[in-house]
Amino acid sequence: MPTDLLREVWGFDAFRPGQQEIVEAVAAGRDVLAIMPTGGGKSLCFQLPALMRDGVTLVISPLIALMRDQVGALKASGVAAGALTSGHTEAESDEVFSALRDGSLKLLYMAPERLAAGGTLPLLRRAGVSAIAVDEAHCVSAWGHDFRPDYLRIGELRRALGVPLAAFTATADAETRGEIIARLFDGAVPQVFLHGFDRPNIHLAFAAKDGPRAQILDFAAARAGQSGIVYCATRARTETLAAALNAAGQPAISYHGGMEAEARREAEGRFQREDGLIVAATVAFGMGIDKPDIRWVAHADLPKSIESYYQEIGRAGRDGAPAETLTLFGTDDIRLRRSQIDEGLADDSRKSADHGRLNALLGLADAPGCRRQVLLRYFGEDTAPCGNCDHCDRPPELWDATEAVRKALSAMLRSGEWFGAGHVIDILTGSATEKVKARGHDQLPTFGVGRDLSKGEWQGVIRQMLGRDLCRPDPERHGALRITPDAHPVLRGETSVSLKRDALAKRAPRPEPRA
Ligand code: ADP
Ligand code: ZN
Repeated sequence: MPTDLLREVWGFDAFRPGQQEIVEAVAAGRDVLAIMPTGGGKSLCFQLPALMRDGVTLVISPLIALMRDQVGALKASGVAAGALTSGHTEAESDEVFSALRDGSLKLLYMAPERLAAGGTLPLLRRAGVSAIAVDEAHCVSAWGHDFRPDYLRIGELRRALGVPLAAFTATADAETRGEIIARLFDGAVPQVFLHGFDRPNIHLAFAAKDGPRAQILDFAAARAGQSGIVYCATRARTETLAAALNAAGQPAISYHGGMEAEARREAEGRFQREDGLIVAATVAFGMGIDKPDIRWVAHADLPKSIESYYQEIGRAGRDGAPAETLTLFGTDDIRLRRSQIDEGLADDSRKSADHGRLNALLGLADAPGCRRQVLLRYFGEDTAPCGNCDHCDRPPELWDATEAVRKALSAMLRSGEWFGAGHVIDILTGSATEKVKARGHDQLPTFGVGRDLSKGEWQGVIRQMLGRDLCRPDPERHGALRITPDAHPVLRGETSVSLKRDALAKRAPRPEPRA
């Protein structure tokens, strides 16, 4: 259920690290203190449970602007939320009062100052407040920089209402934590969530797609006898990969949402019980799986967001012993994921957020440095280079690709932004194919200006350009590549671009002699 709400109301495909456990505890009515880094996604941890519980959840938050943003976003998603603060107009407050009276409100935001006003407690009692959430809970600490005296009234309020309280903060030091517990929970002991997001035993690696079946078979063969999951983008792929693994002597089964419930249960059971079984699965697999010794997770296709990636690799190595991951990605994956977003039913702002989450994953896939640093930074945590990812094992070779990127952008522009990567590469490498000749593209000034790179190298350049959102496939032009505003500074010579040399591109044969 929580995952249904996550998808339907927020449009997110996976929980961020730590969120699900907190959501479940808050929804179950426990007292909770959750410490999460800024940007980690705290607000969802009290908003989503509010929709799962009867009555109103009271949210105490110190900043009126923040409340306005959150209430606005919730309302836009169809959630009954409102705020009572000095910054809201009388008309806005009247609307909230009337929603409180008819029992339709789910989330009521309030500034702490309001708790001091007479009449607030009876109002909250009448409104049927069934839980309290406290944002920026460190404001209760007299030692902190953000001390707000009115936060001291929250403990009293909790006692008076007799409801569970969930407190959230990004401040993790033990002293502040102790003070929050003493002052907000009134002697009760809350369940404390303080996780770093790091799973240091999981080795992180990405590889450009270069015959994914062989790449996955090699990866699995090097880990024969270990339990692993191969995530695939399509049902058909789960079946062909499972068959290929079996044919190579590696016991494997397939799993996807199109299978009968009975067959799915049986597959889950086998995977739990048997040692060394591989499951080739769609993302439908994993939710109910509680197997601590999954030794590896491979992605035969790029996941849809950085959150999905984290959740899926996180199924490996729950026992804390070393576990390995490999994520394959190529130009086609990027095109597929972009078009899935563009062709979906979501509104424009949600679509652009989805592109952003995909960009974050692509940034990780083509990152020049430590993978874990990039991944954890996205979730708000800083860390030193990890020593347990492919780039820490072997730093990638970088090259100044500014000129190459400009040539590619110019080939796209000169051909009217009406063509895909293959055709653009034909222009760049001076391949006079029928299509190139028919369009007169062998007459363009960019024809053949990229002969210094092989077609394989150009694939890598364009994939990384897609990853950095310098160009995008346009769904209204059958996926033709169009340049984005981010490409303009590169075209104008204001920014340079350094790219990774693909291991795969170096192996690719050079198709033509240089002119
Ligand atoms: P915090 O209060 O912890 O600083 P927020 O609650 O404002 O963080 O969330 C930070 C951002 O993360 C927001 O843009 C939010 O929409 C996004 N976010 C939260 N949870 C998820 C999720 N499960 N998947 C994708 N994005 C998420
Ligand atoms: Zn690393």
